[in-house]
Amino acid sequence: MKKEGVKLIENGKRLDGRGLDELRPIKMEIGVLKRADGSAYVEWGENKIMAACYGPREVHPRHVEEPDRAIVRVRYNMAPFSVPDRKRPGPDRRSVEISKVTKEALEPVVLTHLFPRTVVDIFIEVLQANAGTRCAGITAAALAMADAGIPMRDLVASCAAGKIDGKVALDLMGLEDNYGEADLPVALAPNKKQVTLLQMDGNFTRAEFEEAFEKALGGCLKVYEMQKKTIRKKYEV
Ligand code: ADP
Repeated sequence: MKKEGVKLIENGKRLDGRGLDELRPIKMEIGVLKRADGSAYVEWGENKIMAACYGPREVHPRHVEEPDRAIVRVRYNMAPFSVPDRKRPGPDRRSVEISKVTKEALEPVVLTHLFPRTVVDIFIEVLQANAGTRCAGITAAALAMADAGIPMRDLVASCAAGKIDGKVALDLMGLEDNYGEADLPVALAPNKKQVTLLQMDGNFTRAEFEEAFEKALGGCLKVYEMQKKTIRKKYEV
C-alpha cells in the first residue's frame, strides 16, 4: 500500500497545514432529506457524505426478520463521480466490507429488542471521497438514526489515526492515506465507552498502535461533541 517518494510532513506541518493532532474541518447537518425518516449530511475535509435512515419498518424479504429484535441493515455506496477516476457503479468488495463493518459499528447502540420483526435501514452515499469515508459515513449514519428518532443507548462517533513519514497523525486525508504507512479507523459509543469498530491497514509497532488508538479515540470524542451540537441545533428556536 505504501508508495514512496512524497514528503508528507515538512517543518512539523502536514501537506494541508495541519498539525499531527488536528482533524480536518468538519460540517454536519441533520434533517436534510424530506423522504427519509432521518438524514444527515457531513462534510469532512473533502469528503461529502449523505446518510438516510428508515425505520423501524417491516422487513423485506420477510425471511431475514428476527422474531425477538429489529435488524440493522447498512448500504455504503460510492457515487461514480466521488473519486478522481470514475468508480464503476454498484457494489464491490470494498463497499460490501464497509457496509458490514458500519452495520456492526452502529448495531450495538440500537435498542433492537423494542422492535421485533422490523428493520432499521441505513443508506450511506459518498458523493465525494478523500480518505476516511467509513468514519465519516458512520458518523453521518449515527446522526441520521438520531434524527429518525431510533431509540438508541448512545451515539456512535468515528475517526481514524494513521502513520505518515514515521509519525502517528490524526485523520489522514487522501494523499496521506495513499502515501502513508498505516491507517487505524475507530468508532466509539462514547457514553458506554465501547469501541464498535477497529480496523488496521498497514503496519504499526505496538507503541505506535497504542498512540494511534489513543489519538483516534480523542478524535472520536471531538466528533461526538460536534454531533451533539448538530442535533441540539435542530431543536433550538
Ligand atoms: P476510507 O474511505 O474509509 O478511508 P479506504 O481506505 O478503502 O476507505 O479508501 C481510502 C480512499 O481511497 C477513499 O476515501 C477514496 O478517496 C479512495 N478510493 C476508494 N475507492 C476508490 C476507487 N474505486 N477509485 C479511486 N479512489 C478510491
